[in-house]
Amino acid sequence: MYSAILLDHFEHPRNTGDLPEASVRVRVENPVCADVLELSLVVLDGKIDDIRFKAKGCVPCVACASLLSELVRGRLIGEVTVTEAELVNGLGGLPPASTHAAQLALDAFKKAQLEAARIKISAARND
Ligand SMILES: [Zn+2]
Repeated sequence: MYSAILLDHFEHPRNTGDLPEASVRVRVENPVCADVLELSLVVLDGKIDDIRFKAKGCVPCVACASLLSELVRGRLIGEVTVTEAELVNGLGGLPPASTHAAQLALDAFKKAQLEAARIKISAARND
């Protein structure tokens, strides 16, 4: 049902955990199957210096968050875009019932991007 790549991300998730020094922290939930995903990011000069995730949810939810963290790490938070197709293809395919997992990871990252932009604007105002 799941690809070998997807199962590898689930069994050996990349970048799990929490960053106490995170500059951006977000949490999203998916009521469909009660997935909860938290991202913490350290952003330095606009670049995602480090990213960690904590996921409580289904197998593809963990795998999507794991792949997402790899795709965005080291990139500019204001510029990087990840698509659902990139996640699905990068995991060797997702069962149709599991596309919500890709969406959840993308929603979380979008929220982190908005939060990073908001922090930047308020920091500029305080200068
Ligand atoms: Zn799920």
